[in-house]
Amino acid sequence: MAYEYYNVDKDYKKITLLKRKCPRCNSFMADHYDRYACGKCGYTAFKTQEEKTKGKSKTKKAAKKK
Ligand SMILES: [Zn+2]
Repeated sequence: MAYEYYNVDKDYKKITLLKRKCPRCNSFMADHYDRYACGKCGYTAFKTQEEKTKGKSKTKKAAKKK
């Protein structure tokens, strides 16, 4: 899980893309495996199927080293 953060760390442009801002209070939302959640006001935005699959295949690739 942690390595995902390393990946985005390399490219700050990606961070802005991955990090969602809460439409209610405009603070950064926590990135969960299937959703983004705001810790301040409790707003939750569910990820699209595409977003979920993307993360999954990435993890699979890294774990499955031939
Ligand atoms: Zn919020």
